[in-house]
Amino acid sequence: MRGITILGATGSIGLSTLNVLAQYIDRYRIVALTANHQVERLAELCEKFQPQFAVMADADAATRLAVRIKTSCADTCVLSGEEGLISVAEHASVDDVMAAIVGAAGLAPTLAAANAGKRVLLANKEALVMSGQLFMDAIRYNNAELLPIDSEHNAIFQCLPTGYLQGLSAVGVKRILLTGSGGPFRTADINSLARVTPEQACAHPNWDMGRKISVDSATMMNKGLEFIEACWLFNARPDEIEIVIHPQSIIHSMVEYVDGSILAQLGQPDMRTPIAHALAWPQRMSSGVQSLDLFAIGRLDFERPDFARFPCLQLASDAIRQGGTAAVTMNAANEIAVEHFLNEDIRFTDIPIIIENVLCRNSVGCADTLEKVVQADAAAREQAIIEVEKCMRTNKQQAGA
Ligand code: NAD
Ligand code: MG
Repeated sequence: MRGITILGATGSIGLSTLNVLAQYIDRYRIVALTANHQVERLAELCEKFQPQFAVMADADAATRLAVRIKTSCADTCVLSGEEGLISVAEHASVDDVMAAIVGAAGLAPTLAAANAGKRVLLANKEALVMSGQLFMDAIRYNNAELLPIDSEHNAIFQCLPTGYLQGLSAVGVKRILLTGSGGPFRTADINSLARVTPEQACAHPNWDMGRKISVDSATMMNKGLEFIEACWLFNARPDEIEIVIHPQSIIHSMVEYVDGSILAQLGQPDMRTPIAHALAWPQRMSSGVQSLDLFAIGRLDFERPDFARFPCLQLASDAIRQGGTAAVTMNAANEIAVEHFLNEDIRFTDIPIIIENVLCRNSVGCADTLEKVVQADAAAREQAIIEVEKCMRTNKQQAGA
């Protein structure tokens, strides 16, 4: 039996993970389930899976959860806050940690899992984008295992030869082809983007995901974050990765070798496939995903990414090349901007403007300790709020004029 902690159990990835695990209750012991503040959702999962620990990031929510599951889950210990999340990520009876919290909030517990030498199943791309070298070093020095859950990175991992961490050219790899669907606004009238609503931005053509990553997919910041994620995961230089738009989301990414071979991983756009792959690795297990019907799909299309339509692609590409805390700043500004777009405080097209302004105003520092990363994140959030307020004033003036 392997012990598993699911950080972000109530989210889209968390629920898909539990959906896969439900078929294998004889192989996995659910040590901990965590959530931010959704008491009822976590309570229902606790009743079904009877974990040893349930953690709510929010302390009040933790108190309510403890009352709610007192009799139905008598053996579940309720913890709270970042300390609670960290303690279940590094707990001695845990083998695997599914890192599926959204955003910077997942950094400390995910890094704790790496430092404790766990098998880290990484969905929380923001954590790696922020901590880069620090995170990869924590994995290496503590003999932890890092398996990518992001569908593209899981695909690349499946197509790469072993030994890729020595450098791609050392193992005969020419480049990584990182695919992306282009999101819901790939072909929309560019002049209409300023008026798109959160509902339209969250309506992804192929994937059903949490709201933050859905907006990131619409701005293509998701592909920008994934570009940075791929650089760290696969020890790749930015010029060894090319973004390819593939609207059908059937190929999840590719690896090109020096002999001209290109290996691709194909599958349904269903996260249970990469989740089952990482859980079972190096073996395989059934995910519950139906077979791909190639005859029904018929064709696969490819396009170049449109950097003018999606400025976030350039911002991410510049941030990884700048190094240090540039990606931390970019990620934090993006999180604040997306939150305010979802609240309808700012326009969709304000998102890249806010990020760029924050990147211009916040200096790039060294990102070699968690403290420096957390400090740069906090400073960027502060500046991003100022930029959001500026945007709101400008938009109000324009609406009044
Ligand atoms: P989601 O919004 O559906 O779920 C997020 C989870 O994190 C929830 O359980 C929530 O309670 C928890 N959470 C949120 N804020 C928190 C906080 N401050 N402290 C502690 N917990 C908190 O998000 P999701 O779509 O499942 O995405 C999770 C992560 O996986 C993201 O980093 C995303 O980029 C990545 N990812 C998601 C998908 C997908 O298909 N959904 C695909 C690839 C990568
Ligand atoms: Mg992805």
